[in-house]
Amino acid sequence: MKVLIGGGSGFVGRELTRLLKNKGHEVTVISRQPGPGKITWTELESSGLPACDGAVNLAGENLMNPLRWWNESYKKDLYSSRIDTTKALSSAIASSSSPPHSWVLVSGVACYQPSLTAQYTEDSEWKPFDLLSKLVKEWEAAAELPEDVAKTTKQVVIRPGAVLGRDGGAIKQMWLPFWLGVGGTLGSGRQPFPWIHVTDLAGIIAHFLETPQSEAPPTQQQVYNGVAPSLDTNYDFTKEFGGFCGGRRCFLCPGL
Ligand code: NDP
Repeated sequence: MKVLIGGGSGFVGRELTRLLKNKGHEVTVISRQPGPGKITWTELESSGLPACDGAVNLAGENLMNPLRWWNESYKKDLYSSRIDTTKALSSAIASSSSPPHSWVLVSGVACYQPSLTAQYTEDSEWKPFDLLSKLVKEWEAAAELPEDVAKTTKQVVIRPGAVLGRDGGAIKQMWLPFWLGVGGTLGSGRQPFPWIHVTDLAGIIAHFLETPQSEAPPTQQQVYNGVAPSLDTNYDFTKEFGGFCGGRRCFLCPGL
């Protein structure tokens, strides 16, 4: 199977590429930079969709980029890096003479209002309430295919929690403060901390790429929340992670 991965050079993309290649699939990454095994977004727009059986979008400016101020320009990049790339891929799929059988977008659980009591499922009603939930709404809308294309291309949206793994995401940014003994909870630490391990997320994406469609796919997006089954708080996670870092001191909110 040939798979095209937008933003495949990143944390999740590297894991997914490793998994797909181990299974004997061929991967082409769409990137801002040219290179072996890659095409650029500009090439996608000028030459159209290369032959592929599955397409995935993982592109997006890092939401916790320590080198960027949380200003208008950064917010604009958070939006455009996700929405424009998703739109570029869905448009290329829609105008392809042989569209892939699967199209997977990875968005996020930021669409759900944080709550310690509510249990959200894919059927939960939600309305945008802040910057990130508005982003999720527009991002997922940008992935939607026209109805005639959706009759043959399965559209899947996976909403993961924080993706955990050794070499990227939140954990990569937490090693240093925790090893130095200055890591701690965010605010009160009572906020929910939905999470998923990067190998599980890669496995879920690969599953949707590999699962053959027995009949015509539903023409609407199939949405799945990608989170571990336990509902942990930021406090639980911080405590566990501090223990994992050799029992280093970490700042746990005493009110809990
Ligand atoms: P990364 O931060 O590793 O970024 C993925 C890729 O996006 C990069 O390798 C880069 O590819 C591309 N990219 C970065 N900035 C821009 C930009 N300004 N414009 C266009 N492309 C850009 O992401 P992850 O692998 O961690 O996450 C994959 C997707 O999953 C993202 O969309 C993310 O929002 C979402 N997600 C991630 C979570 C996490 O905890 N990691 C949690 C929930 C959702 P290149 O340099 O080759 O162009």
